[in-house]
Amino acid sequence: MIDLAALTGSSFVVLGLARSGLATVRALQAAGIDCIAWDDNPASRAAAEKAGMPVADPATIDWSDRTALIMSPGIPNRLPKPHPVANAARAAGRPILCDIELLARAQPQARFVAITGTNGKSTTTALIGHILDQAGLRCEVGGNIGRGALDLAPLGPGGIYVLEMSSYQLELLQTFRANAAVWLNITPDHIDRHGDLAGYVVAKEHIFDRQQPGDCTVIGIDDEPSRAVYRRLAARPGIATIAVSLASAADGVSFSAGRLVDAAGETVDFSDVPTLPGDHNAQNAACAWAVCRWLKVPSEKIVAGLRSYPGLPHRQEQVAEVGAVIYVNDSKATNADATARALSSYRDIYWILGGQAKEGGVAPLAGYFDRIRHAFLIGEATELFAGQLEGRLAYSRCGDLQSALEAAHAQAQRDLAARGGRRGVVLLSPACASWDQWKSYEHRGDAFRAMARALPGARQLGRAA
Ligand code: ADP
Repeated sequence: MIDLAALTGSSFVVLGLARSGLATVRALQAAGIDCIAWDDNPASRAAAEKAGMPVADPATIDWSDRTALIMSPGIPNRLPKPHPVANAARAAGRPILCDIELLARAQPQARFVAITGTNGKSTTTALIGHILDQAGLRCEVGGNIGRGALDLAPLGPGGIYVLEMSSYQLELLQTFRANAAVWLNITPDHIDRHGDLAGYVVAKEHIFDRQQPGDCTVIGIDDEPSRAVYRRLAARPGIATIAVSLASAADGVSFSAGRLVDAAGETVDFSDVPTLPGDHNAQNAACAWAVCRWLKVPSEKIVAGLRSYPGLPHRQEQVAEVGAVIYVNDSKATNADATARALSSYRDIYWILGGQAKEGGVAPLAGYFDRIRHAFLIGEATELFAGQLEGRLAYSRCGDLQSALEAAHAQAQRDLAARGGRRGVVLLSPACASWDQWKSYEHRGDAFRAMARALPGARQLGRAA
């Protein structure tokens, strides 16, 4: 836990009692700092109260006694409609901060690597953390992934915090400075919270605030909004600004099909690393490479880290193997865009999809249908998807995940001989939310992993979960 003694004398209101809010209250209490905690959900309040936290309604408090409001990033502070407590703090002239700001104030001698972007944040954060850890550097990984920022261990001088940061967190910083800022990509997302794409980009650009000469920015330039940001940033004096691109990046890092080349001419081939399939992961790996080189990690240690990266659950996670067929859990792919990444990574795919459909369904995925042997439909989206696949791709209506897996398994194993033993992939990449049949995408993915590992003759791949 982070020691917040540096904030002694302050008094906070903590709004939102999920992972990061609870960690914040715990750290404040441990340091003897005055705070009140609140969540609109009575069950969250009851759990916090049971844990001995000072729960009180901030609607009636006198803000003149309070230093700041600490808000969970999941709660709107401006758009689409500000939470009333955010309005009250603002009206009283009190700053609205997030837990990462408190971490920065409490650990002024540590270094910070911050990662943002629309897609690939968790993967790149985990990958950088893994490489640094394997290379023997003292680091902690958190923020929007894993543990809340104030649950991390204190590192002090020489330590490196590797933090995944959403646009919501980036808007709530005042002194935080990213010694290395990683910007992966931008596509329209969360527009309700930022008004429009321009507002979303502005929120994310806060990752570069307060960077100083000697710091570093790594930026994926394969989409137009990101190229525009790169053009603006490249002019900053003394800050290394490294472009990363699938096409070419003269002074930066280029990548394609699991191979990257950097400006110094170093080449790394990690196309056979099963936990980093596809060009999207090559982008993530290229960004990780650029940051770790900037941190002076020797190339061979970075390569070793890339090669031993264990992957994250539910993101093209190889969970089992039966004969030459692998079983892949990509339950995190809750929309067509994410599923496209998985479909582009394999051939001879037995595709399990469905759940609660997103706008457009699977129509945008038609370009990948020649990679798919058969589609196995589940959940609410079945009839919509059947209509979209009709005449273009063979499919079956399977109802639920267990039936779909059994059907896909049977067909993949039958076809194996016909393909001359060439690898096949049974892929759960639903392109849908999970809530029609599951509590969450994690719940759905955990169930798939267990079912695949229970198939006759299955050999477990990846770590136990
Ligand atoms: P985030 O934390 O930004 O949601 P993740 O690392 O959890 O990203 O990856 C989620 C999904 O996003 C992956 O399963 C994959 O489909 C897609 N993805 C990952 N990296 C990238 C990338 N660099 N560009 C585009 N899509 C990506």
